Amino acid sequence: MECEICGKEIRYRPVKIIVEGTELNVCSECREYGVEEVSTSVQHGITRVVKKDRKPQHSKPMVFTEELVEGFNEIIRRERQKRSWSQEDLAKKIQEKESLIRKIENAEITPEPEVIEKLERLFEVKLRERVQEVKPSPQKKLVPTLGDVVVIKKKKK
Ligand SMILES: [Zn+2]
Repeated sequence: MECEICGKEIRYRPVKIIVEGTELNVCSECREYGVEEVSTSVQHGITRVVKKDRKPQHSKPMVFTEELVEGFNEIIRRERQKRSWSQEDLAKKIQEKESLIRKIENAEITPEPEVIEKLERLFEVKLRERVQEVKPSPQKKLVPTLGDVVVIKKKKK
């Protein structure tokens, strides 16, 4: 069974998660991409009670973006050369054009996610890193008291 997110072979039990309403079987590393489905066939006899009230329920799932790692083109080139493949060989293996491989390796273009995925699977390397989108925390507004309010007259030119 392969993880439906990263494509890696799942050695143990796949984790069922819900991502935007879709049920996916993923590996333990990808479980945090979605909401874990609560299994109804929970083994009884386990005395440990896991309370899931540590975090407040988010109305929206966490937002993650995938970003290409720095020097991804170098990684691709290195992995290809390790295997003594030409750019053409690599292109054939992932069913892309040789010119695309050349451009990727020269960092002339940012490859499509599908291409990245194919390369990741082929080389068994990670070319992307998950970045959690950081939302700016609302700044505390200092509410001025009446005495602090200074009216600045705008100079009109
Ligand atoms: Zn995975």
